[in-house]
Amino acid sequence: METKKILLSGVKPTGRPHLGNYFAVMKQLVDLQNDYDTYVMVADYHALTSVQNAEEMRTLTHELVLDYLGIGIDPTKVTLFKQSAIPEHTELAWYFDCITTMPYLMRAHAFKDNEAKNKEINVGVFNYPMLMAADILIHDAEIIPVGRDQKQHIEYTRDTAEKFNNTFGDVFTLPKELIIESVEIVPGTDGRKMSKSYGNIISLFATDEEITKAVMSIVTDSGASIPEHVYNIHKLFRSEAQLVSLYEEKKGKYKDLKEALLADIIAFVTPMRARRAQFAAQPDLVASILKSGGDKARARAQKKMQTVRKLVGLE
Ligand code: AMP
Repeated sequence: METKKILLSGVKPTGRPHLGNYFAVMKQLVDLQNDYDTYVMVADYHALTSVQNAEEMRTLTHELVLDYLGIGIDPTKVTLFKQSAIPEHTELAWYFDCITTMPYLMRAHAFKDNEAKNKEINVGVFNYPMLMAADILIHDAEIIPVGRDQKQHIEYTRDTAEKFNNTFGDVFTLPKELIIESVEIVPGTDGRKMSKSYGNIISLFATDEEITKAVMSIVTDSGASIPEHVYNIHKLFRSEAQLVSLYEEKKGKYKDLKEALLADIIAFVTPMRARRAQFAAQPDLVASILKSGGDKARARAQKKMQTVRKLVGLE
């Protein structure tokens, strides 16, 4: 039997996922869970760079696990785990820190963006591409679904794997990003990339009231017959063929078009909410899913680290 390639994805538990996270990354996990040996990680070590309150971290982590289960991740097929269940991720990140130069990390977009905003960033944020490289390489993951903003970090991961392989011996598989062109940058309510920091998001598991508020706030350009930003979000939910006739019929009627989009979003998330609520009512089941995912992922990582430690000369 042919062994399946490993696909890995991680999202930080720093708040509710939005449509950008869902369509660019989370949806791919559900679509591909039968085709790849799929590892889904709640990136809690990464979240520590910004979430620095224990209770909040626990709550956000639990909520994100429910979100994954709600969208249709099948825990009998997918290895769902907390990053912190595998301290070896941070150990490997340290090895990578030691073969990586500061100027190289200073070229990372995320660092440059923060610097441009004059933000004081912590060392965790600066080193984040190395921990991300460790997350991927420790599991021999080959396919990494991401949005376009993460492309550079996958390049960093490949560079780091090559550097380590050349320095110590061939141990890491070079991964590839999986970017779906039509959703590589999902736009928000103001037409810019949907992002929490722009305040233009529509959260996937928001209430009807919250979704209504967000949809009604979509910026429209008075005078245009087609409200471009409404249309671009609507494209996520319907084929362009369907939309063309709807937008033709409702030309210039922005409110009607927003209401049509709203109805489509709510119809889309309703079954996910129901699935999420079923898991939310069974906290013991959720805990056992995370535990068995963590055990499986850790066993794999520990095996890999035995080889890595030998190559480095620590064993
Ligand atoms: P973040 O929450 O920014 O850490 O993003 C988690 C994942 O979602 C990353 O793979 C991002 O590339 C992806 N992502 C975030 N926002 C968007 C967006 N507006 N369009 C496409 N992908 C996105």
